[in-house]
Amino acid sequence: MSFTDLGLSAPIQKAIAEKGYDTPSPIQAQAIPAVLAGKDVMAAAQTGTGKTAGFTLPILELLSKGEKARPNQARTLIITPTRELAAQIAENVEMYGKHLDLKSTVVFGGVKINPQMLRLRQGVDILVATPGRLLDLYNQNAVRFNQLEVLVLDEADRMLDMGFLRDIKKILSLLPKKRQTLLFSATFSPDIRELAKGIVNDPVEISISPKNTTAETVEQLIYPVDKNKKASLLTHLIKANDWRQVIVFMKTKHGANKLTKQLDASGIKAAAIHGNKSQGARTKALAQFKEGSINVLVATDIAARGIDIDQLPQVVNFELPNVPEDYVHRIGRTGRAGATGQAVSLVCADEIDLLNDVQHVIQSHLPREVVAGFEPVNALPESRKLRPLKAKKTKKIKWDKPEHKDGQRSGDNARGHKPTGKNRRHTGNSTKVNPYGNSSSNKTGKHHAKPSANK
Ligand code: AMP
Repeated sequence: MSFTDLGLSAPIQKAIAEKGYDTPSPIQAQAIPAVLAGKDVMAAAQTGTGKTAGFTLPILELLSKGEKARPNQARTLIITPTRELAAQIAENVEMYGKHLDLKSTVVFGGVKINPQMLRLRQGVDILVATPGRLLDLYNQNAVRFNQLEVLVLDEADRMLDMGFLRDIKKILSLLPKKRQTLLFSATFSPDIRELAKGIVNDPVEISISPKNTTAETVEQLIYPVDKNKKASLLTHLIKANDWRQVIVFMKTKHGANKLTKQLDASGIKAAAIHGNKSQGARTKALAQFKEGSINVLVATDIAARGIDIDQLPQVVNFELPNVPEDYVHRIGRTGRAGATGQAVSLVCADEIDLLNDVQHVIQSHLPREVVAGFEPVNALPESRKLRPLKAKKTKKIKWDKPEHKDGQRSGDNARGHKPTGKNRRHTGNSTKVNPYGNSSSNKTGKHHAKPSANK
């Protein structure tokens, strides 16, 4: 199948061709005709599968036909959990829609609200938003939804994890009942199905990945090491392997700051990216990382979620995550679109339980390799035998329970940042086989996560 078979008009096809895509990914091949036919869609697909174009392209096609947006109205609303994702989606909307006469903008917390209010004044065809800021703007009469045609809930599972259920419920109550709704989630967990019940109507269901496996194109490895030697092992690995573009994952913001300083001190150009950093600092760090003036991005899980960097070769888990499914999300940063990548984890003896949890979720034992000079004094215990994954019971979502405190509006600061035991409920649906059916499909231009998508 090619993009010409999908019923997209010439201006959109031109933008796709300029981006260098030749084959639609599976999610695109399935979602685009369904959306164009006016159907609701419920899709299980992760970042990296091409899902953004999967919903953006047909939406642009639909919007190019209808009535223009009136002042303060939005014809399409795309809700997503984090600022970074919002900025990236907006960038995609701009790019795919560049030969069309449509207006789009992006709004999220952590930056001034007034410019966003100004941009909304003339009305927009596509509004990309994080939930809290969207509600703030609604409360200030900056945006209305009488003309809303399409709603997209992107990364719905993450929005639930981050405690946005209440905001989503509120937003849904503001939207017209007659609309097209597209729901994207990494997995169809029982919670997501419960959420979807009241939102999508007779949806086309699309599931892109088999259950609980990690990217086939990513080579995974564990380096057993003592906790106090992790920073020097990381420095050694970066220098010895001449790694130039690495994302290092940490559990805490404090840990990320500390490690960044240690790397800097040993002559490695690093920047931290997490929820305590201003939006400006995060955007700058990401841009520097993409252009190569920073080689290491030290990130917490939420801050890194959805960061889209073409062909990132190297991911390092400096610490294993508390929520094992986050391991799958982390290593999803690499090996995209058929490119090969490597994900290494520095694991100390204390982390054996976390390691066992990860291995349970991915249903395989990760190979271990001890680096000469970094042999652990406290040996990493043997891995537990793999047990089969059990299906989880459906949990009733309580719509009225307050999900997060005021002021935690922008996503990264939400309580869900550090998921509790209660929140350990992804099902980790995540294989990324080459989604584009070819090996050279992602040789595209650079992305710049600049937040202004206003035309
Ligand atoms: P997404 O899953 O939307 O975050 O997209 C992941 C990456 O795949 C992005 O860098 C896109 O630019 C790229 N991409 C999306 N669709 C295609 C396609 N049909 N062919 C090649 N690359 C694509």
